[in-house]
Amino acid sequence: MIARVTLEIALRKEFDYAIPPEFAGQVEVGSRVKVPFGPRQVLGVVTSLLEASTHPNLRPVLKIIGRQSQVTPRVLQLARWIAEYYCCPVEIALKGVLPEAVRKEAEGWRQRLFVSIVPPSGGMPKLTRRQQDAWNVIEEWRELPLQELLRLTGTTAKTVRQLEDLGLVAIRRKVSERDPYAQEHILPTQPLRLNPEQSAALAKIQKAIVAPPSSRLTPHASDSVPAASRTFLLHGVTGSGKTEVYLQAIAHALEQGQGAIVLVPEISLTPQTVERFKARFSSGKLQTLVAVLHSHLSAGERHDEWHKIRQGRARIVIGARSAIFAPVDPLGLIVVDEEHEHSYKQEEAPRYHARDVAVVRGQMEGAVVVLGSATPSLESFYNAQRAKYALLEMPSRVDDQKLPIVRVVDMRKENRKGKGVQIFSQQLKEAITRRLEKAEQVILFLNRRGFSTSLQCPLCGYVAQCPNCSVSLTYHRAALKLLCHVCGHQATVPQVCPQSNCANPAIRYSGLGTQRVEETLGRLFPAARIRRMDSDVLKRKDDYRRILTDFRTGKIDILVGTQMIAKGLHFPNVTLVGIVHADLSLHIADFRAGERTFQLLTQVAGRAGRGDVEGEVFVQAFTPFHPAIQYARRHDFPGFYEQEIEFREQLKYPPLSRIALLMLKGRNEEKVMFSANHVRCQLEKELAVLKDLIIAGPAPAPLARAEANYRYQIMLRTRQMTQLSRHLARLTESWSLPADVVLSVDIDPVDLA
Ligand SMILES: [Zn+2]
Ligand SMILES: [Zn+2]
Repeated sequence: MIARVTLEIALRKEFDYAIPPEFAGQVEVGSRVKVPFGPRQVLGVVTSLLEASTHPNLRPVLKIIGRQSQVTPRVLQLARWIAEYYCCPVEIALKGVLPEAVRKEAEGWRQRLFVSIVPPSGGMPKLTRRQQDAWNVIEEWRELPLQELLRLTGTTAKTVRQLEDLGLVAIRRKVSERDPYAQEHILPTQPLRLNPEQSAALAKIQKAIVAPPSSRLTPHASDSVPAASRTFLLHGVTGSGKTEVYLQAIAHALEQGQGAIVLVPEISLTPQTVERFKARFSSGKLQTLVAVLHSHLSAGERHDEWHKIRQGRARIVIGARSAIFAPVDPLGLIVVDEEHEHSYKQEEAPRYHARDVAVVRGQMEGAVVVLGSATPSLESFYNAQRAKYALLEMPSRVDDQKLPIVRVVDMRKENRKGKGVQIFSQQLKEAITRRLEKAEQVILFLNRRGFSTSLQCPLCGYVAQCPNCSVSLTYHRAALKLLCHVCGHQATVPQVCPQSNCANPAIRYSGLGTQRVEETLGRLFPAARIRRMDSDVLKRKDDYRRILTDFRTGKIDILVGTQMIAKGLHFPNVTLVGIVHADLSLHIADFRAGERTFQLLTQVAGRAGRGDVEGEVFVQAFTPFHPAIQYARRHDFPGFYEQEIEFREQLKYPPLSRIALLMLKGRNEEKVMFSANHVRCQLEKELAVLKDLIIAGPAPAPLARAEANYRYQIMLRTRQMTQLSRHLARLTESWSLPADVVLSVDIDPVDLA
């Protein structure tokens, strides 16, 4: 037999190897193998088994890594789709689907010495005091790791050896599974009572989960239930109880003999979230292990969690982006929580979007996919409007809690009062004072992103925009230039605000960060206990958790933070949320700026009023009448969607098109520019077949220079992305760029600023 192998070194080619007799029957599609390649030995994945090869004198497979094949045929098929759609070699896609800890040859199960009790034959020998102490513990545990025994009893290994000599215990080497959540004490929970909206949503999802036909390997196969009714968009406001719907849908999948994958943004993978899933399935007839996959696990923990899934012992997986590749089989349900989150997009190759991969995997395996959000992405809602996804709505909070009252404060008026540029409005200051007096808690939110990249007048709210692309111009302080990074449009920085009735000369000097907010707050409220939470203060792994625990237990009055505090957190005593400068995300140089601001405001506002007292939200803004702010104030997602989709339609932005972003990087700016222009010419010539193609750029990337590299980008827009990807794969192979200029392709990028 012959094995066709994809090697880890990206060569866009496959190679045939002979399977030696000693491995007969052990090599399957998806096996990881070590093979000779030139003078080297390299790792690869078997992609097919053949009777014969056209190549003579095949070299043999040297070693099989692991007892089970690591890439199941279904995941292999998914990797092939990723390679094709996201325009990358299969080797790179295959690397993306296996955690590094599983791919590595060296990583394995951890072996430890265990002490176990041996039933005494005949009478109990007389023991010394130390021996007796150790024996008591062993008798109680029946079996435990030697290290653990020594720690518990303070005894020595010698004492335990003496017990072994007496025939009372056995000491053996055994696999000891690493459990990242071993320290947590998890109490089982029962399904909660659902309100009518939750029940209706759950019923539809459950109905779609059916036992799968024995094998289904063709994508878009003609199924009895059409694919559309298997992908749901669950639009539920903050606090509407989406997680409980997920939990009961998973229970239904388990009852049908199928497993589930739950994706959550990395930042929401708090121990509390994980605990909710573990607690529900820790006992009872649906008991199963819940495996967790995310980047804070050690390599060993990740290895063990992954293999628990592969062996079928863990039927539920909860994890960040890459958990979408978990080898759950059969797979009945995929949940993508907070589906609008940008962290689902991988920023390096393979540059896949886990939400979109989830939908494709669901179709390939006949699994139900539930995309959940309080603020769905325009892409997903557009698909729901066109009946590609089935829409489930949960417009009210559980337990009849009210959505918070949102007040928008016009900061232009505050600043015109003549005391210079203010951080806090009078209204917000008074509101904070009132809440602190009642011993309630406050969250102040500042989205620091893009803080220095747009030019905004603090008096009238004017923002410099590109006349061609409707994105904010990027302000390059050093060069005193305004630049559009989509089309390359350039403008000089005005001396005074260009609004004729304003003419503010201080236009160039605005900006603030979380640190300044914290300092000012300390001066205004000297008695309050204030903590700041952003990536600067969170140096250690437990910091995040410790600050949240302190906040939960009332040791902090005011929490100041960035995106980190926007999501999924539930604090019943928080009654006031202040968004210090809503414009910061509104004027980033990205056509999704409005959408992101709407999402952020809605999510942050959702932190208020989760307990018995009604919540209140203050949004401070320099452009208070911007639709993103006004629709968020009224909790009006459909209204926001309607006006935003019109804007996208006019300028042919997603979801009315798809984007491919070509990035060229290099140390020599002239060479990079020259190459970028060359690439643009080639694209115009070669892609004339795509009638709706729009080519913009080359233009300097928003981050124009990173790690001493100059970066230029070209943006392509079309509705026919599958075709464009195919062309790009062929073209990028054929271009000969200078050796020190690197080209990368990003399909469906989410972050342009
Ligand atoms: Zn102005
Ligand atoms: Zn432009």
